[in-house]
Amino acid sequence: MKFPLEKFEKIRTPFYYYDLSLLSDTLSSIKEATADLPNYHVHYAIKANANPRLLRQIASAGFGADCVSGGEIETALSSGFDASKIVFAGVGKSDWEINLGLDNNIACFNVESIPELEVINQLAAKKEKTANVAFRVNPNIDAHTHEKITTGLNENKFGIAMEDLHEAIGLACKMKNINYVGLHFHIGSQILDLDAYHALCQRVNDLQKQLESAGIKTQTINVGGGLGIDYEQPDANPIPDFQSYFGIFRKHLNLRSHQQLHFELGRSVVAQCGSLIARTLYIKKGHTKQFLIVDAGLTELIRPAMYGAVHATLNISAPKETPTEVYDVVGPICESSDVFAKAMPLPQSRRGDFIAFRSAGAYGETMASCYNCRQLPQSYFNMSNENLSPNDMDCSM
Ligand SMILES: *Cc1c(COP(=O)(O)O)cnc(C)c1O
Repeated sequence: MKFPLEKFEKIRTPFYYYDLSLLSDTLSSIKEATADLPNYHVHYAIKANANPRLLRQIASAGFGADCVSGGEIETALSSGFDASKIVFAGVGKSDWEINLGLDNNIACFNVESIPELEVINQLAAKKEKTANVAFRVNPNIDAHTHEKITTGLNENKFGIAMEDLHEAIGLACKMKNINYVGLHFHIGSQILDLDAYHALCQRVNDLQKQLESAGIKTQTINVGGGLGIDYEQPDANPIPDFQSYFGIFRKHLNLRSHQQLHFELGRSVVAQCGSLIARTLYIKKGHTKQFLIVDAGLTELIRPAMYGAVHATLNISAPKETPTEVYDVVGPICESSDVFAKAMPLPQSRRGDFIAFRSAGAYGETMASCYNCRQLPQSYFNMSNENLSPNDMDCSM
């Protein structure tokens, strides 16, 4: 990826920089991989990145939206996503959020508990509406990813256990203002081992047989998101292997001819198109190590502190052939966890050098905070042949 340093000189750091042509290529790649699969539908998971400029591009490419809050439903609608392509998940939907979904006739509520189902039924009755619901099922699959982003195991808070599903569907079918449409699964995030999806397909196949023998008809199967990206080599693998990903479902999932298959990809759509750009403030030499202190911190990118994630880190100012040194790359926030990377080899760096944290397009800007009274980061875009321009609709401005 190329970075327009002369333009960066004029901008206050830290900021997010998005390559919209990469986003466009990524969206095209998803569409190509599903072109001959008319019953496959991708809902982009808004929580990965809710930057309005990105959302408009994703919506206008025809994708739906996967939302996990009322705020995300509002954001999706105002960014051009069609309500008929909005699904709403989350273990703790509040009444106003459910009402918002009902008022806008969203496609589906992904329900995670019986008490939630009862509340949706009551609120829908008040409006004389019928809510489409899918049950989030906990398939008890280990996605072999970070413990904080594994969601499909029995002991976590998400979804309904497989053994309780029959009862839940039975209840839903008796409720006047509920229409049971489908099953929802989401087994985790940053999944690189596609066998986890193969296991998911087998679980879904088994479950479908059980439900059918009990006379239950299911219209939609939603297999969630979670496809991982290459954090180590973003330039070598800027676009995830969507062909193989969708190929797993094509090959192993026994979809009935009347059924629709839904996906909720987040990270794999937006991660590689975004970088966090910071400037080097100081090189601080300790006794056993040296610190490269930048002006971005966990307030802009919390993944290293929260998940122990490591982002490919580049000194984009250093001339080629600069000798390498080893640094702990840290931010200015008053938390000892405000560390981007330990013992990272980088070109010998100087005050003022631009540092790019790559693959920061997902769970970066959306998780930014104002801790330490910092300002939320601004975002800038490269639109091929257009000038670098700040996002005039960004709520951070
Ligand atoms: C977070 C989330 C996703 C998206 O996950 P990615 O790993 O970003 O693809 C999809 N569905 C649900 C229900 C989620 O909570």
